[in-house]
Amino acid sequence: LANKKFHPDPSIVKVGNVEIGGKTVVIMSGPCAIESKEQLLITAHAIKKAGAHILRGGAYKPRTSPYAFQGLEEEGLKFMKEAREETGLPVICEVTSLNAIEAAVKYVDMLQIGARNMQNFYLLKEAGKTGLPVLLKRGLSATIDEWLNASEYIISEGNPNVVLCERGIRTFETATRNTLDLSAVPVIKEKSHLPIIVDPSHATGVRAYVKPLSMGAIATGADGLMIETHPNPSCALSDGPQSLTFEQFEKLTQELRPLIEIM
Ligand code: PEP
Ligand code: MN
Repeated sequence: LANKKFHPDPSIVKVGNVEIGGKTVVIMSGPCAIESKEQLLITAHAIKKAGAHILRGGAYKPRTSPYAFQGLEEEGLKFMKEAREETGLPVICEVTSLNAIEAAVKYVDMLQIGARNMQNFYLLKEAGKTGLPVLLKRGLSATIDEWLNASEYIISEGNPNVVLCERGIRTFETATRNTLDLSAVPVIKEKSHLPIIVDPSHATGVRAYVKPLSMGAIATGADGLMIETHPNPSCALSDGPQSLTFEQFEKLTQELRPLIEIM
């Protein structure tokens, strides 16, 4: 169902009033974790002002350590809904369990399946059943074929609204958190009709590398970007080192604009 052979036209996935896979490069931005209502609302306004289209924020955080901040759960989802009501931006949250899906459908416009759950087939099917658009991140060590097969689990539940997200894969290289596989963009474009976005924040783990890889992603034909932002990255409860300040994010969107227009 994800195969281009049987569906030659590129798919457009609608999230609220935003089209992913259409003419514009869609920018999703926001904090790694929703930390408080204030933090989320200022971020929502700042990213909207800078030109972002969708607000991201994690309420269920699949952290490497069980002792790290795990997210505000349903309370965080409520803040997301408020942020959408205040700004008009559609909102996306990661879901990590059936409980999270049941809660999230009440508050968000798009579900995110994280890298660590890409092959949690039960979760994929449950996300598919909701009918909400799903952002499917590539697994840490998943091949492109495994990733596309994971998308089939969602689509075969009758939900064609899948967007892929390349977020870096595990390699021998340690200079960046993961290795961004930009070749996945043209490969996916050849094999599938699904839109694909790139997340340079999780791919690199380093704020300074977000701009060059955002540019690379657009140049290779990505349909969008996911970029982490925080009002005060040095105090972030997760992923501070890769998060941009609002000033840095606004500068980045301005620098990307001419490139988006050329593409
Ligand atoms: C995230 O988007 O906050 C996240 C945890 O991403 P990934 O699943 O790609 O690690
Ligand atoms: Mn993060």
